[in-house]
This record gives sequence, C-alpha cells and structure tokens, in this order.
Amino acid sequence: MGRILSCPQCHKNGLLRSRPQSPREHFASFLFVVPFRCPSCSHRFLASHLGLDRSTHPVDRREHLRIPVQLYLSFSGGHVRGEGTVLDLSMGGCIIKSETQVHTNDIFYLRLLLDDSEPPLELAAMVHSVSARGIAFKFLRSAQESKRLLAFVQAQTPDQPGKSSRKVVAAA
Ligand SMILES: [Zn+2]
Repeated sequence: MGRILSCPQCHKNGLLRSRPQSPREHFASFLFVVPFRCPSCSHRFLASHLGLDRSTHPVDRREHLRIPVQLYLSFSGGHVRGEGTVLDLSMGGCIIKSETQVHTNDIFYLRLLLDDSEPPLELAAMVHSVSARGIAFKFLRSAQESKRLLAFVQAQTPDQPGKSSRKVVAAA
C-alpha cells in the first residue's frame, strides 16, 4: 500500500491521474509530478506520484489528449448535411470549421477522411457548443471506443515515451 492523495479543495479521495496537457505539466512529469483531477469537484492540481498506490489513483480515461489536425469531414443528421474541416481531434470529440448551421445537442454522423486510401471514419457525435472557434462535437460512447480513432490519435501524439506502458494501462 502506498500513499493516498485527497483533494486539496474538497478533501475527498478517489482522485484520478490526468495526462499532462500543458508544456508546464509535461515538464513537471519529468520530475514525477503529474496532474490529478478530482471527480467530485473537478479541481485539477499537480502532485508527486512517487509512492502512490496506483490502484487507488487510476489514470483518468475520460480526459483526452487533443491533437491539432486538418482533416476534411462531411456530416449528416436529420435533414441537415454539411461539410467542413476538423481542426482539433481527441478521443472525446472534435472541433470543426463549417458554414453549416447546427444547434447544440443536435446529433450527427461525422465522416472523417483520415487517409485518402481508406474509407472515411464514421463517428456519431453530438453538438456540444457553437462558437467563433468552431463547432465542438462530443463523440457518443460508441465513437469514443472506436479502435481506428484510437490508433489515429495515438499515431498523431508527438511525445509518447510511455507509449507501450500506456497500451498496457488501456488494456487493463
Ligand atoms: Zn475535490
């Protein structure tokens, strides 16, 4: 048994380890200091993971690395059809630029062209928000478990010294 961390904000247990996202967090991870997230109050903070009990602090699989991309996509749902460019992609969703008018909570089937030589990747997604940045889609659960999406995101992720160990975590 190792140490158990509790949330500095709400003092609850059950903290999840997050993946480093900012340059600061990536740097800190070299010093065994990693981000944690509290599922109770969503507080995110950095702490050392040395000596922590791994089973009580599993890696947070709901948080996703976002990767910048430029991918053509088309989408359809109800009577609406559109096309656009995916600018940002993660296992949780994507942000696209499109002229098509959509509304929050609309559900669409997205077809992402990952590779000219392969059929597009089809993913079901819901409009999370529409802003000047673009349309943010949240993938539905089936899409979040897409093996092809996972393979694509992993291949695009630049620094992955722990790629093989991460796979073991994902399979557990
Ligand atoms: Zn908390």
